[in-house]
Amino acid sequence: MTAPAQPVDTFDLVIFGGTGDLAVRKLLPALFHRFVDGQIQAGSRIIGVAREALDDDGYRAQIRSALNGAADSQPAKLDAFLKLVGYRPLDARKDDGWDDFAKLMAEQPDNVRVFYLSTSPELFVDICQRLGHYGLNKGESRVVLEKPIGHDLASANRINDDVGSVFAESQTFRIDHYLGKETVQNLLALRFGNALFEPLWNAGHIDHVQITVAETLGVGRRGPYYDHAGALRDMVQNHLLQLLCMVAMEPPASLSPNAVRDEKLKVLHALKTIDDSNAAQLTVRGQYRAGVAEGQSVPGYIEDLNNDSKTKVQKSNTETFVALKAEIGNWRWAGVPFYLRTGKRLAERVSEIVVAFKPVPHSIFSASAGPLAQNRLVLRLQPDEGVKLWLTIKHPGPGGLRLRHVPLDMSFAEAFGAQQSDAYERLLLDVVRGNPTLFMRRDEVEAAWRWADPILAAWAAGGEAPRPYTAGTWGPSSAVALIERDGRTWDEDNE
Ligand code: NAP
Repeated sequence: MTAPAQPVDTFDLVIFGGTGDLAVRKLLPALFHRFVDGQIQAGSRIIGVAREALDDDGYRAQIRSALNGAADSQPAKLDAFLKLVGYRPLDARKDDGWDDFAKLMAEQPDNVRVFYLSTSPELFVDICQRLGHYGLNKGESRVVLEKPIGHDLASANRINDDVGSVFAESQTFRIDHYLGKETVQNLLALRFGNALFEPLWNAGHIDHVQITVAETLGVGRRGPYYDHAGALRDMVQNHLLQLLCMVAMEPPASLSPNAVRDEKLKVLHALKTIDDSNAAQLTVRGQYRAGVAEGQSVPGYIEDLNNDSKTKVQKSNTETFVALKAEIGNWRWAGVPFYLRTGKRLAERVSEIVVAFKPVPHSIFSASAGPLAQNRLVLRLQPDEGVKLWLTIKHPGPGGLRLRHVPLDMSFAEAFGAQQSDAYERLLLDVVRGNPTLFMRRDEVEAAWRWADPILAAWAAGGEAPRPYTAGTWGPSSAVALIERDGRTWDEDNE
């Protein structure tokens, strides 16, 4: 039997942007689930902050309707949870109301304080300066920064410097929710908890790695933000590179936060530069056009942008799709390509890491047995988190020796049922516990930008428009060519 979940110390969690999409759709449901599981104790408080003029009851009503689905069968739990929830109307850029907010915080001086900045990053500095000015960085206080941390290395440095003038690095938790996913944790367990994989985990045995984060949705309401960012900044610089680091890092000496992050940093430093000398060969940018996604006719990127903006545009040079071939210049990975791919309005919603092993050196089977396929370890982050190891076996029966490629399949939902939880549940409690292992350290963010900036610069200098692709497909045909040039294919049919 599994031991019951351990309660965390009582805390005050202040969510700046408490009425926003992330807070309502992700953070509050995550906190509710942890409350139901008994990890959040009486005396803890969750305080939403935004400019909207609401009182505690008005905010609770918003959260109640947002949580209704999650709390269907447990109305008493929902009532108890909402007693922990409050609201303060504050403008991050104005001083009105901050004195009262400071008094509210002073009511529970021993609680761990978590300031979660679930707002646009332009507000990070204003919020942190006011938190400093009103003396709120006290005792055990931490600040959580949502992505994006900057637009490039220079702007990331500015944000980190400004936040750093109020909060020490040890208090700063830069969240990348991909790192909180069960499968990513399991990558650590698989690699370092089994004797099986690590001896093979190198250029001698691994042919290549693919990391795909594909969405079927378009930009939706995020158009104005997205058009200034694009897929490389929005997804590759953070989520995909973090996943790459987890696959490629050396075994850390322990799971202590700095041991893990030191190893990830070494991978980022070892990434080979992609710049104007090779970006045309190693990267593909795309932008979706109208098409059919998940059975529905959907508009193209420009129509989506114009739908949500007062100023109409005719065209945009922003990529909604990126595919690229990265290489890590070190002994373990020399010559092993890491193909990364992400985009909006793609054929399927799937996030997956595929580790493809080299073929056996010599086949003892006759041609009639069928082809020998590569062993592949597939770690699926969403949907249906799980791990599959594709193996070659003999097709059962007396019809001759015929080879079959089948997966050893572990779906976490099937294996563990209701124990599945959202990444934010783990990460929020890790912040309260003060465990930064799964959060990005400043030098990691900087190293990731140092790699991404020359790609962005090469694209800007090249001036080429992103290649069009039809919504509901796997991106532009040049992304297929990128991997097929190397005699490989994207892993799209491993059901
Ligand atoms: P959103 O829906 O636009 O919410 C923004 C929140 O900030 C609202 O509560 C808004 O309320 C508040 N706000 C705006 N200006 C403010 C000010 N001057 N002072 C105080 N509060 C202010 O944005 P979101 O989607 O929740 O995203 C928040 C952040 O998380 C963004 O940086 C986003 O990139 C990042 N993120 C979001 C997601 C997601 O799934 N949504 C995922 C990953 C990262 P008022 O207008 O009433 O002030």
